[in-house]
Amino acid sequence: MVNSSVNPDEVHNTFREFLSSKGLRVTNQRLAIFDAAYKHEDHFTAEELLEAARAIDDTVSRATVYRALPILTESGLIREVDVGRDYKFYMANRNANTFKAQVICVETDKIFEIDAPFMEWYGKTVADKLGMEVVSQRLQVMARCKGGHDSKTCENCDKPASQS
Ligand SMILES: [Zn+2]
Repeated sequence: MVNSSVNPDEVHNTFREFLSSKGLRVTNQRLAIFDAAYKHEDHFTAEELLEAARAIDDTVSRATVYRALPILTESGLIREVDVGRDYKFYMANRNANTFKAQVICVETDKIFEIDAPFMEWYGKTVADKLGMEVVSQRLQVMARCKGGHDSKTCENCDKPASQS
């Protein structure tokens, strides 16, 4: 299922409003970073975001990107995806309401985002047992494509990334 229900103008406004609420200026650089992030269908790293943002506005600096990322994740418009490497991945939060699990192919390191709505219930239930409140949770599954990658039978990793 592809979620294309998000209106681009709407997320733009949400981002502007978020910046204002934080007392931050809406600058062309910040908007370029935001647009670059939302153009990415798949996961991206900070460096990839820098490159994409510079293609929109070449005055965007690395420092601006690294300062913008925490703002974007705090706004909820971008999601941080930590798969235990020494750098983080990010992804536009096009469908903010559904919990996503990550399935990572051990051969190609490709990350798949799979809807896992029941996980939210699970996290809440186990936290409740301790009288606690869920702040965040993640489910990551390392997996291997059954057909392997040398043959042409790998059904997942060869496919375009936007499918879920
Ligand atoms: Zn694979």
